[in-house]
Amino acid sequence: MSTDVHQNFFVVDPERSQLLSALWQHQLQDRHISREAIKRLAEKYQLSEIEIEGVVSFYHFFHLKPAGKHTIYLNKSITAELKGFERIRETFERETGARLGFTDPSGTFGLFATPCIGLSDHEPAALIDFYPFTNLNALKVKDIINKLKEGNSAAEICDIPQENIRYTPANNRTIFFAPYTRGEAIAKLATLKQDGVLEQLKRSELSGRGGAFFPTWKKWDTCRSYATSPKFIICNADEGEPGTFKDRVLLSNQPGSVIEGMIAAAYTVGASYGMIYLRGEYRWLAKKLEEEIEAFHAQGLLGKSIAGIEGFDFDIRLELGAGAYVCGEETALLESMEGKRGEPRTKWFYPVEKGYLQLPTVVNNVETFAAVSRILQLGADEYLKRGIPGSPGTKLISISGDCERPGIYEIEWGLTIAELLELCGGKDPYFIQVSGPSGEPISIKEKFRRISMLDLKDQKDIRCGGSFMIFNSERDIVHILMNFSEFFKHESCGVCTPCRAGNFIIQRKLERLQNGLADMNDLKELKSWGNLMKTTSRCGLGKTATNSIIQSLEKFDDYFTGRFAKTDNSIIRKFNHQLAVADYERYKP
Ligand code: SF4
Repeated sequence: MSTDVHQNFFVVDPERSQLLSALWQHQLQDRHISREAIKRLAEKYQLSEIEIEGVVSFYHFFHLKPAGKHTIYLNKSITAELKGFERIRETFERETGARLGFTDPSGTFGLFATPCIGLSDHEPAALIDFYPFTNLNALKVKDIINKLKEGNSAAEICDIPQENIRYTPANNRTIFFAPYTRGEAIAKLATLKQDGVLEQLKRSELSGRGGAFFPTWKKWDTCRSYATSPKFIICNADEGEPGTFKDRVLLSNQPGSVIEGMIAAAYTVGASYGMIYLRGEYRWLAKKLEEEIEAFHAQGLLGKSIAGIEGFDFDIRLELGAGAYVCGEETALLESMEGKRGEPRTKWFYPVEKGYLQLPTVVNNVETFAAVSRILQLGADEYLKRGIPGSPGTKLISISGDCERPGIYEIEWGLTIAELLELCGGKDPYFIQVSGPSGEPISIKEKFRRISMLDLKDQKDIRCGGSFMIFNSERDIVHILMNFSEFFKHESCGVCTPCRAGNFIIQRKLERLQNGLADMNDLKELKSWGNLMKTTSRCGLGKTATNSIIQSLEKFDDYFTGRFAKTDNSIIRKFNHQLAVADYERYKP
């Protein structure tokens, strides 16, 4: 993660791609990026100070003002809210003397909220100085703050979360959590050759597990077809969808299988350099990954002539994100790796043709690379024995919310949602949000369809990116949707107007619904803004930000009808009049 890593391994990296690492060093050392630091960095990278400041202000974990000797990020995802966010916030505020969003007067503690830190199975949770603290309660918070005041470091007293693997398929059918021996998949490369690897992936029907489900073999084959060099392999370890934590568990439990999948990709497409873009929230996992990379070096599985294959030279470094959900979008991630604001690119080219530094790049996520190494190790025939025709293999699901056993479930495609709820001890499930806030809410009335990812023509099937949040019938759906909407408003990069303005307007509409002031026009406008954002936004964030709202209005019509029954039309008229007056005052010439 240090700039040395760039210098040692990648002469190809331009200076600017070191900017995020340099900013991290300043943030950790000075607890903010000072004006002097910005000036020095601007001189070093031959950029204007405004440009550096633009990058700093884009990422939530970089601060222009001191963020406290101990910086606390309290998770504010919907699961955290339901598990007691407010109580924990009050306790942190009382014990530290810092109000949320500020530092305490002495500058010892900075207290901030953040949308999701990948610990939904251990809520309420927080990061302190980027180390995890889980299953918080008032007594625990008091104890943590006392220990920090006594001079302990967060690293000494943190709770590294349990891996929390709750279920794997019986009879040794697990794909991801089988015993792992470093180098087993790499040993197959020399025999399979590039065509053989692609053939194995094609037969296994593996498709990208980041949510787009694009066939992995096809992506690799396309990248291979470009003659330009060098080529890059990037592991997208920036899972930021609230409710998702499968990558955290894979990177803790099976880091080698992820790295081995990257090495297989490099061999197949002819890439020389690899990077793991690790989300800032998982900074505490960086040491483990660096140790694993070192172990690969020690065994001759990274570096020159990997596994004795003449001419196969490949190396991997870590790059640390800095708290921006949109960087999970692959082109935003590439921008971020180049030391820029993580704004999604216009889609003139796919990264396989023009990716990192405009050179051919394969971007896959953690679960996809882990699956690749298992497929090569087991062979496609064995892999195909799991799952159902059309959807072979297994899928990792992150379960959180109203259930007895939150955690990671490795399921075979074909399992029904009712069966999954039985496994995790779902309590009175009423509203289930699949694939995070941008995904799909499902209602108990839908009779819990079969989980599958490939046969999208069948309405009974469901695309599942990984997160599965359960809410019981006592939960307020509008409150859930407001949390999602706040998340998108906060995370929109602001480049395109429909997303920037739309998320703001949608939140206002939901506030009216929450306060019993909405009328049918508000619902119509919610839908029309949703459609506008879907069709005109540049990236997936804007396109999917209203999915859950629009589908909820359709699937939970009885719930929303109940909300309207409470609405008093005379109050609505008065409120609308006040809004019109306020708008006139604000915009009058
Ligand atoms: Fe940025 Fe939203 Fe546009 Fe995506 S849709 S590029 S997040 S403004």
